[in-house]
Amino acid sequence: MTENRMMVRVQIMGESYEVPEGSTIIMAMEYAGYQLKRGIGCREGFCGACATLYREKNDYKIKGGLACQTVVTDGMVIAQIPFVPAEKPVYNITELTPDIDTIKAIFPTVFRCVACNTCTKACPQDMEVMDYIQALKRGNIERAADLSFDCIRCGLCALRCPAEIVQYHAGTLARRLYGRYLAKKSPEIEERIKEVKEGAYDGEFEELESMSREKLSEKYYSREIKLK
Ligand code: SF4
Ligand code: SF4
Repeated sequence: MTENRMMVRVQIMGESYEVPEGSTIIMAMEYAGYQLKRGIGCREGFCGACATLYREKNDYKIKGGLACQTVVTDGMVIAQIPFVPAEKPVYNITELTPDIDTIKAIFPTVFRCVACNTCTKACPQDMEVMDYIQALKRGNIERAADLSFDCIRCGLCALRCPAEIVQYHAGTLARRLYGRYLAKKSPEIEERIKEVKEGAYDGEFEELESMSREKLSEKYYSREIKLK
């Protein structure tokens, strides 16, 4: 038992536990003794692996969120979902055209969207999920690619969609089509790829690979970001 710490009571997978106030759901689960091997990844809100369902005290709604980013509240009831079972079409990007016919052929479900906006409300990234599905319905690949860019593929949108659309796979197709066929080619990227292949950064890669997680994290967050 931790001294001088406020505790809250939560229910995890049907069992009741006292956990420190202010913990994320992942921290609370580990405090309660869970060893997480599935449904966990980067712990930083980027990988989308820890999609979790929960209900808060005196609130009838079942909510979804990332366990590494959602802070527990007293009376919270928590259930982890290790992954969202979703249909994943297989295609060869080199054989496709960036237009509405491709969307119709690979993701016919997109055209069942009833514009209920449930997916947008479910998204922990606060993305306009319905809008990128609507863009795909119109064959606007560029807009769908742009609006879906921050998707971390947690699956929470698909889990709630009444039309059984797998939004994140459809968004991935939009970005692939955009990247391969529609985006303006960048000579700088071509040059950088050539440098990478020639080993210009091998030393830096080796240095990164030898770093501890803490050092990597420190380096990542203190990096200089160049904005144009
Ligand atoms: S939840 Fe499904 S049906 Fe509703 S807006 Fe999103 S994609 Fe369309
Ligand atoms: S669009 Fe869907 S899969 Fe992507 S981050 Fe939002 S809820 Fe998760």
